[in-house]
Amino acid sequence: MNPLQQQDPQVWDAIQDEASRQRDGLEMIASENYTSYAVMQAAGSVLTNKYAEGYPGRRYYGGCEHVDVVETLAIERAKQLFGAECANVQPHSGSQANAAVYLSCLKPGDKVLGLDLAQGGHLTHGMKLNISGQLYDFHSYGVTRDTNRLDFDQIASLAREQKPKLIVAGASAYPREIPHDKFAEIAEEVGARLMVDMAHYAGLVAAKIHNSPVGLADYVTTTTHKTLRGPRGGLILCKEEHQKLINRNVFPGTQGGPLMHVIAGKAVCFGEALTEEYRTYAQAVVDNAKVLAETLVAAGLPLVSGGTDNHLMLVDVTAVGLGGKVAESVLDSCGITVNMNMIPFDQRKPMDPSGIRIGTPALTTRGMGETEMRRIGAWIHSALANHEDTALHEKIRGEIREMCASFPVPADQESSAVIA
Ligand code: PLP
Repeated sequence: MNPLQQQDPQVWDAIQDEASRQRDGLEMIASENYTSYAVMQAAGSVLTNKYAEGYPGRRYYGGCEHVDVVETLAIERAKQLFGAECANVQPHSGSQANAAVYLSCLKPGDKVLGLDLAQGGHLTHGMKLNISGQLYDFHSYGVTRDTNRLDFDQIASLAREQKPKLIVAGASAYPREIPHDKFAEIAEEVGARLMVDMAHYAGLVAAKIHNSPVGLADYVTTTTHKTLRGPRGGLILCKEEHQKLINRNVFPGTQGGPLMHVIAGKAVCFGEALTEEYRTYAQAVVDNAKVLAETLVAAGLPLVSGGTDNHLMLVDVTAVGLGGKVAESVLDSCGITVNMNMIPFDQRKPMDPSGIRIGTPALTTRGMGETEMRRIGAWIHSALANHEDTALHEKIRGEIREMCASFPVPADQESSAVIA
């Protein structure tokens, strides 16, 4: 029996149940992934014991010589990976990365443009209950009705009309490549700063599959745990002229001590993302998403904007007479994990919207490819088209479990110590 199992069997058991869920089912939440065993080792290391307020070489605590090595590695690798002038690897999350940028360039009440939450934006892009919406005067832009792609005419006219201090680009549920240069042009024209939140597609930027906002935007923020496949956390990249303020607004502006164990996991993740193997992985994420999208469309499930350029797609499940809530739960009972999601110009409510969001990053990490995507597309369609047929759902669940056994999760491949 290992120490955790012996000391706290309740927590141990819950972890084992979660490990089985991650192993036996299809994890298709677009913002999730499986980290490597090396990332988990770093994130579960003794570095969790260390206080290190400040930055490498300028700490408010003694004994920081080793964590300084780790944070410097993370910073240098992040800069190399994205070709950035400066990097702050301390934000505990994507939300805190965004809050630190806002604090660096806005005063309460200042105007900002961001993508509408109901059309693919994130809570931190001005949702009323979020600190971004509480402190700043956000105005939302959206997508066009006919193509469901970003409406740059609207963005430009809103920018001219509102004269925002900051324009926020980036999304949580947008299946197309974002042309960062168009945002940069508009920001320049109206004298606004530009922040690109590439949390969802940072891995595709790292692998040079999507265009990079670095060099175009004043600030680039991201999470490290989605397509980038690192530990849960945030990252800010910026131009040299903004570095001092960004650093000050991460610590002490919005955070205290950095999570050094997570920063170690970020360093390992950035190291992995610099490899050819990672580039191959990121290309496979996009290729898999295309095949899955084609399979769903061919089966009669319409997709927002008709398809995908990245790692995710939004399916309009009203086409098979369902709402997103029921669709999510039907797929859950088959062992397919997705999340319900609003679609542009949705007539339904956020707690039971018209869509579901599906992503390929996690399954691609397991080594699944185009053959599996076609099978998965057929299962999704069959389950949704027969949403009351629980015997069918049970059958699909069994087939999925059998397929999953041939695609071990990374932790299983390397050790049984963390995930038994
Ligand atoms: N920005 C975008 C675009 C996101 O999609 C997310 C998370 O889903 C975040 C920021 C926030 O990240 P976190 O959950 O780490 O706070």
